[in-house]
Amino acid sequence: MANLGFIGLGIMGRPQAGHLQAAGNQLYLNTRSKIPQELLDKGGIACRTNKEVAEKSDIVFIMVSDTPDVEQVLFGENGVASGLSKGKIVVDMSTISPITTKEFAKRIEENGGLYLDAPVSGGEVGAKNATLTFMVGGREETFEKVKPYFQLMGKTITLIGGNGDGQTAKAANQIIVALTIEAVGEALLFASKAGADPAKVRQALLGGFAASRILEVHGERMIKRTFAPGFRIALHKKDLNIVLSGARALKVSLPGTALCQELFNANSAMDEDGLDDSAMVKVLERMANHEIRAKD
Ligand code: NAP
Repeated sequence: MANLGFIGLGIMGRPQAGHLQAAGNQLYLNTRSKIPQELLDKGGIACRTNKEVAEKSDIVFIMVSDTPDVEQVLFGENGVASGLSKGKIVVDMSTISPITTKEFAKRIEENGGLYLDAPVSGGEVGAKNATLTFMVGGREETFEKVKPYFQLMGKTITLIGGNGDGQTAKAANQIIVALTIEAVGEALLFASKAGADPAKVRQALLGGFAASRILEVHGERMIKRTFAPGFRIALHKKDLNIVLSGARALKVSLPGTALCQELFNANSAMDEDGLDDSAMVKVLERMANHEIRAKD
């Protein structure tokens, strides 16, 4: 049993923390709003500050929203950095900027700590089922120490390289997810407006070369009109901002990613930032003056 800190108990963090706890680890918890009661009922200890979490834990897991949130958790008043001592490990599982991650890792090491960036893919379902994919950046010895805990929360766990490389892999993941949502949306919309049953089209395509998890999960959402998140459009826009600003710095042109960001911007204009990212299809539907509907 280890003493583990967990900061950020939202859609992803809450079930992830639950898996660490179910394996017998003592959890020290903090989040911005309310700590889920079930984690407290099972022995989790609420901390008043992120500093206190770091003081009491050997490894601190973080799962908050964006780069400024991680900065505040680490280096804000009574932040994690102020509670670190030699050898403690900070694991940031949030999806944030690879460039800033390198700076965070350096500052944490200056405070005596060790740092891994370990963003995940697999969504809420993967978090609940402990089947997440972890893309990790950091030192190999640190990775080996944390790996048994990653295995409690996920299935595919890969050390990509040094600090920041985990976040770079996640940014690449988000490019594929966004462009595939766009492709699935266009395909189902086209089929539906042509008079074919989009549910049957999806079913058929799942057996062929166009099969993908996005066609399976998001395709079903588009047909059944279940746009409650899941993964919010606001978060996917945040990720594509990370990608596109990185691409500008690298002088890489990513036209498909830029198109998807513009479609998400059109979602924002309709106050759809809180919907699941599969709701990108609603923008395409408005342009086609047609809504995807399964035939009864
Ligand atoms: P979420 O439901 O909004 O959860 C974020 C949690 O962090 C919330 O509980 C929030 O508190 C807390 N938080 C934010 N800033 C904080 C701060 N400064 N101090 C303490 N707590 C803070 O988001 P999520 O969907 O779990 O996503 C978390 C991260 O995982 C994001 O980086 C996201 O891109 C990534 N991710 C999400 C998914 C997905 O499918 N949802 C999949 C893969 C990766 P409040 O509730 O008080 O705001």
